[in-house]
Amino acid sequence: MSYCFGVDVGGTTVKLGLFQTDGQLLEKWEIKTRTENGGEAILPDIADSICSKMKEHGLEKEQVLGIGMGIPAPVTGEGIVKNTANLGWGYKEVKRELEELTGIRVVPGNDANVAALGEMWMGGGKGCRDMIMVTLGTGVGGGVITDGECVVGSHGAGGEIGHIRVNYEETEACGCGNKGCLEQYASATGIARLARRRLVKDEEPSILRQEAVDAITAKSVFDAVKEGDKVAIQIAEEFGNYLGNALVNLAAVCDPEVVVIGGGVSKAGKILLDYIEKPFRERAFFANKETRFVLAELANDAGIYGAVKLLLS
Ligand code: ZN
Repeated sequence: MSYCFGVDVGGTTVKLGLFQTDGQLLEKWEIKTRTENGGEAILPDIADSICSKMKEHGLEKEQVLGIGMGIPAPVTGEGIVKNTANLGWGYKEVKRELEELTGIRVVPGNDANVAALGEMWMGGGKGCRDMIMVTLGTGVGGGVITDGECVVGSHGAGGEIGHIRVNYEETEACGCGNKGCLEQYASATGIARLARRRLVKDEEPSILRQEAVDAITAKSVFDAVKEGDKVAIQIAEEFGNYLGNALVNLAAVCDPEVVVIGGGVSKAGKILLDYIEKPFRERAFFANKETRFVLAELANDAGIYGAVKLLLS
């Protein structure tokens, strides 16, 4: 039996998993992401953690096929990161450095793309080869898989669904500096922003008015939707229109079999899909209308599964 490691690097923790190469997860654990001093300790910490896990299980290097890795930044085909928002890294030759530290083959990729691979392999998109994954968290991440492989692109920025421009009239800026990105309406923070904007428009009664306007979250919006709250439903419809129509355009480009919706916002459950699917079915190109919508299934493990899939494919 041979083994491999899946590593999912986040801004606060690094998740690691020891897998058999048939995809069975044997053990998972976490270490802290030390981002200080330009994140210089991150790769050595990962190498140490993997080496001690190998010792613990009596594994030799020859039994380990490799280390797959998801990183919250664009990653080139050569395994190079040019810049990161929250790891402290600037230019970093991730593949080369971690290979030198461990003596094991390393295959890194963008974390959202890697999570999409995980969901295709073992989660909501199991059995599919053409899939779009949308991760609705603090931001909006994405992964586009065609014929079983992620669209990485020439700058490692393929599948950055959150920065599709969906509103030409927007006056506030997205985290990326542009205005009118999908992330401004479909992320957890985006949905809360839509709620604040809606509530100040008039005095229509709503459960949401019981909270301080700054305390409203995506969860409170969808909880209110489930209670039949009219104002919350309008907010959910606005969210769904932005995301559903963005997916109409994406589907016209890559014609997926399934759209997988994940991230913290997806904890709202099936009702979330209804608000995305309705505008999609109304507007999609006729050949794309049968695209299925499902919720992600692997939650926080999508990254480590996908990292292994990236390594094995
Ligand atoms: Zn943006």
